[in-house]
Amino acid sequence: MADKGLLLVLSGPSGVGKGTVKSAIVEKKVFPFEYSVSMTTRKPRPGEVDGKDYYFVTEERFKQAINDGELLEYNNYVGNYYGTPLAPVKKMLEEGKDVLLEIDVNGAQKVREKMPDGVFIFLTPPDLHTLHLRLEHRGTESEEVILGRIEQARKEILVMQDYDYAVVNDTVANAVDHIKAIVDAEHVSVKRVIDDYRKMVMED
Ligand code: 5GP
Repeated sequence: MADKGLLLVLSGPSGVGKGTVKSAIVEKKVFPFEYSVSMTTRKPRPGEVDGKDYYFVTEERFKQAINDGELLEYNNYVGNYYGTPLAPVKKMLEEGKDVLLEIDVNGAQKVREKMPDGVFIFLTPPDLHTLHLRLEHRGTESEEVILGRIEQARKEILVMQDYDYAVVNDTVANAVDHIKAIVDAEHVSVKRVIDDYRKMVMED
């Protein structure tokens, strides 16, 4: 049987750029992995493809998935549900494939409780001032909403203590390089390879 793959959980405060970093990893195929496509009740944005970016579903279908235990975790974020379908994640890990989840901090906390073996990567803004500028630059929120988000980010940054790694998103290229280094190191960490070596010395 193939060795189990790594469960890579990329999370961090809202507005930090998780989606952009994830897209860069996916597009440049920085390392071999499968992306876990989430289910959501939010409407697709222009250019988003059902089954690739998300599974876009109705609230009724989402609630059925919750009731039937189909989700590893889920959360309601600004009025929309988001969740990780469990079966494909389990299957890919069992096939020895690394699986990447890009989810919010609430979801990551639930995954940590159920799958503590995962590699939990916390993406941080270089500082709160930069986060403020980024949110302003997006131009979609009022100053009041932005200040609310900064306050939220202050609290979310403290949950970093439950993660394995903190990666600063100063530039997307730097963040991607650090994540690749983490994945490479995790593949050779003794706790993950010791069983193979035990088998090797027993066979000889
Ligand atoms: P967006 O609507 O911008 O695509 O995503 C909004 C937020 O939902 C982001 O913080 C993203 O990381 C998070 N998200 C995406 N998929 C999931 C998921 O399956 N579970 C959870 N808990 N959060 C998710």
